[in-house]
Amino acid sequence: KLYNQVQDLKGSIRVYCRVRPFLSGQSNHFSAVDHIEEGIITMNTPSRHGKGQRSFSFNKVFGPSASQAEVFSDMQPLIRSVLDGYNVCIFAYGQTGSGKTFTMTGPRELTEKSQGVNYRALSDLFQIANQRKDTFSYEVSVQMIEIYNEQVRDLLVTDGTNRRLEIRNSSHRGHSVPDANVVPVSSTFDVIDLMNLGQKNRAVGATALNDRSSRSHSCLTVHVQGRDLTSGAILRGCMHLVDLAGSERVDKSEVTGDRLKEAQHINKSLSALGDVIASLAQKNPHVPYRNSKLTQLLQDSLGGQAKTLMFVHISPEPDAIGESISTLKFAERVA
Ligand code: ADP
Ligand code: MG
Repeated sequence: KLYNQVQDLKGSIRVYCRVRPFLSGQSNHFSAVDHIEEGIITMNTPSRHGKGQRSFSFNKVFGPSASQAEVFSDMQPLIRSVLDGYNVCIFAYGQTGSGKTFTMTGPRELTEKSQGVNYRALSDLFQIANQRKDTFSYEVSVQMIEIYNEQVRDLLVTDGTNRRLEIRNSSHRGHSVPDANVVPVSSTFDVIDLMNLGQKNRAVGATALNDRSSRSHSCLTVHVQGRDLTSGAILRGCMHLVDLAGSERVDKSEVTGDRLKEAQHINKSLSALGDVIASLAQKNPHVPYRNSKLTQLLQDSLGGQAKTLMFVHISPEPDAIGESISTLKFAERVA
């Protein structure tokens, strides 16, 4: 019995890796990625001593030619779990420019084919709920928040208000942000409008050189409540879809003031996330959820019965190799 529980726990954290293609206009004579096969990614790590290589192994590795549909198809069982009353957390990790937003949302000019995980997850959710309509009645609602400098802000506001919100713990919602707008949704059209609003609010204050979206965590939370039509029993599931702040190390000798403060906050919260996932993977009885706003918010979707997918992103450029290796090491800690 215990053996099974332990197996379940271990099975609840999965790690995927995705390498984005070279961007158009970039020369691609040399890629930092040597090859990918069966969940193993091998990086070229040249040094003064000559050619070097290092391999990392994950549950799944997607190469530069993987489509959005292909990437999502591996996540579909997670979506089904939310409707079965489980909590799910999918988060995108990687340096700025590695493709996190592409995976979660899509490119700037969105087409149906290029839609990311967020849209596909909700569209799947509606589809499965509809298939079950004779036995279950589902209500779906979403919230979208941002964590910037350890402050939580609602992204679903239309009046530009910028109140600081608190994460609270309640018996039926668990850890959540009750004061952020909760919007009922019943179709993918509703979702597209809301995501556009959220994206727009996330971009506020951003300039080309000072892209705030890469220095905040954004989280789309989907709350699902299902009622069993025969027994009347209620089940609740929740899914967090998180586009994390860029994981790149900022050279402390080069930044000061606000930029340094931001870097320290990002560093602190990403380390806190790594520590939580690592202690769950090692089945450590003490899980340090309280060390950042991010881990407090995700608390009920990390560990226990929850299902977690950490999705790390890598750029193919040789200049990015240092950051890519540190991303892969971060992921390897839990894989
Ligand atoms: P991040 O959110 O990690 O900073 P982005 O998602 O903004 O990175 O990606 C950086 C650039 O690369 C964007 O122009 C994006 O459209 C493009 N890109 C990222 N991943 C892919 C991919 N798999 N296929 C095609 N273009 C991609
Ligand atoms: Mg981004």
